Amino acid sequence: MSFSPVLSRRNLFGTLACGCAAAAVGFGSSPVLAASGVARTELSADAALAKLKEGNAAFVAGGACTPAGGTAHISPLAVGQAPFAVVIGCSDSRTPPELVFNTGLGELFIIRVAGNTVDASAIGSIEYGVSVLGAPLVLVMGHSQCGAVQAAIQMATEGTHFPGSIDDLVQPILPAVLRSRHDGHYLVADAVRANVEDVTARIAAASPVVAQAVAAKKVRVVGSVYDLASGKVDFLA
Ligand SMILES: [Zn+2]
Repeated sequence: MSFSPVLSRRNLFGTLACGCAAAAVGFGSSPVLAASGVARTELSADAALAKLKEGNAAFVAGGACTPAGGTAHISPLAVGQAPFAVVIGCSDSRTPPELVFNTGLGELFIIRVAGNTVDASAIGSIEYGVSVLGAPLVLVMGHSQCGAVQAAIQMATEGTHFPGSIDDLVQPILPAVLRSRHDGHYLVADAVRANVEDVTARIAAASPVVAQAVAAKKVRVVGSVYDLASGKVDFLA
């Protein structure tokens, strides 16, 4: 069996979209269609950011109502997706973006990896979310007491190495950790924030697609930190 070395744009996006069907509900009738045939969100980057802030406030207040499942809610989403934000978050089980921002199916396009860093696959996913699905906002979300960041501090201070591929996971966080050093000490909170700033900068640096969209003021890339104790997200913009 052989594979063509070059996937056509149509085939690539068809393949990606098949596992990620979601909603266009409430996004109006923009003539610009996403690859799935669903109208893109009409929210601006600022409006999308405001929506995330409102959702987090509802989550913290405890009055949040995350849309339920059931076929009445699920099946209408099968025609396509038009998320209003791309979120890069940590794999930590306490930080699910859908819950933290009180959002439902089809609203967020999410990339999660321990330490919320971005490799080539993540950059490609972000580009897909922005350029194909039309999300106007890219949010990088670190969190307090992040284990991956603490591992990077341990690597920096004690030369610790971790089994398997964990070193590869931690390495991209090291520059931020070293930059956050103050008077010979490392504070996890400072390193978490520095890592968010690094990843936010790296996205535009690694992706001309995103950089051009940002320059055209069609997309914003914003950093944030989720606090495990309070549930609040501190937006860095
Ligand atoms: Zn984490």
